[in-house]
Amino acid sequence: MDTSIPIRNPRNGKIDYTITPPTEQQLTDLCGHLRQHQKQWVLGGLQQRIEVLQTWKQAIKADQAELLEALITDTGRKSESILEIDSLISGIDRWCRLAPQLLAPEAERTTAIPFINLQHQSIAYPLVGVISPWNFPLLLSTIDTIPALMAGCAVIVKPSEIAPRFIQPLIKTISTVPLLRDVLAYIEGAAETGANLIQKVDLICFTGSVATGKKVAAAAAKQFIPAFLELGGKDAAIVLESANLEEATSAILWGSVVNNGQSCLSLERVYVAESIFESFVEQLTAKAQRLKLAYPTFEDGQIGPIISASQAEIMATHLEDARYKGAKIHCGGEVELLEGGFWCLPTVLSEVNHSMKIMSEETFGPIMPVMAFSSVEEGIRLANDSIYGLSAAVFAASTEEALAVAADLEAGAISINDAGLTAFIHEGEKNSFKFSGLGGSRMGAAALQRFRRKKALLVKTQSMADPWWFK
Ligand code: NAD
Repeated sequence: MDTSIPIRNPRNGKIDYTITPPTEQQLTDLCGHLRQHQKQWVLGGLQQRIEVLQTWKQAIKADQAELLEALITDTGRKSESILEIDSLISGIDRWCRLAPQLLAPEAERTTAIPFINLQHQSIAYPLVGVISPWNFPLLLSTIDTIPALMAGCAVIVKPSEIAPRFIQPLIKTISTVPLLRDVLAYIEGAAETGANLIQKVDLICFTGSVATGKKVAAAAAKQFIPAFLELGGKDAAIVLESANLEEATSAILWGSVVNNGQSCLSLERVYVAESIFESFVEQLTAKAQRLKLAYPTFEDGQIGPIISASQAEIMATHLEDARYKGAKIHCGGEVELLEGGFWCLPTVLSEVNHSMKIMSEETFGPIMPVMAFSSVEEGIRLANDSIYGLSAAVFAASTEEALAVAADLEAGAISINDAGLTAFIHEGEKNSFKFSGLGGSRMGAAALQRFRRKKALLVKTQSMADPWWFK
């Protein structure tokens, strides 16, 4: 039986690639192999793991051109694909630099009870599963993988079936690195393979939609394994009356439109103080209109195609719903079909409200609905009126004024007078609020600690009867 899955090219809509999921038996055997070698991965020590990851980095650099070409075909965009490879390389270096301190053995210490000492050990989970989405296919398949490997786990990764061409070139780089190839595996497949994978690992890291995240959480609970869930968002920006409009409009445009709005931390709702609303919309629209589609060539503009055909349909539905309910479109506003690919120019809307899908559901496109508020309290209330709580942004003349608003926002990361800063500040630990996720922080030192269990060794240091024993 042919189980291969056809893959669509986002720039021209052609089916020009296929992937083949492993059979149930192949997956079981692969997981067994990884588990077996994980023991040696730990015994070899941290220095060896650092050296192996550095060797992998060199292999990635050597095969960078092939990896980049596959990633560009997967996503239809170029500069962000280069950024993904650069981020993988710098991510390996960052964890190699940080791990010795984070994984240093703790010295034995005294406790509140004078004759009991405490030693801590931390033990790596043997096999970590990673399931990742299509919007940054390479980056999001490696963001949890590198710290998990560094922590001493073996890792098996199932990237999205929407953008899977990068998998084979990446597997090629892994296969050249002895030791690594026995503890790191990438597999192809869709939902069924992802669901099977959860049955075979000791911990699951999932990045994707809320709908799938809920299924993953339920499956992990059934297996009784930890699940770290990084899910969707509907990030709000609040622009106070005192804000610098020139900077706020530039930051919000970038935060909404970069990677064509296909980013979990895209700004998808903008709330602006009534008194500056008109000038804000005017300036944002003028700047949005300067951006062009990267069509027919990459050099023609900044805006790539919509990667997923079903996401294009969601965007078109949201725009239609907004239009029908009375939204005013200042620029963009159409999902266009050009030679088989779906495209959308940066879109600014006003006269929007929370009855519209474009203000309540994740759109995942370069779309900026802007709504006025009459008091700061109303702005905060509107921003919090969402099932999501991933991140947000606040713009004001003074940091204090912005921070006061940020304190009341129900979101895990808030950029002050800027947008999307969590993508750059790796040490910024954060947890998702509401349906945007569950579990420990993927950013900062906590990211690595997710992959180890702590063991407390409680050592009695004197030969004597404990005061609490039966007399
Ligand atoms: P998705 O949920 O459709 O798919 C994600 C992955 O889950 C894919 O690999 C898919 O094959 C797999 N999958 C599907 N059903 C499964 C099941 N039942 N069991 C196990 N695995 C299954 O998401 P998507 O459309 O690929 O990605 C876009 C979403 O990801 C958006 O909602 C976006 O906001 C979110 N996202 C979140 C973050 C974050 O850090 N919070 C980052 C990037 C993207």
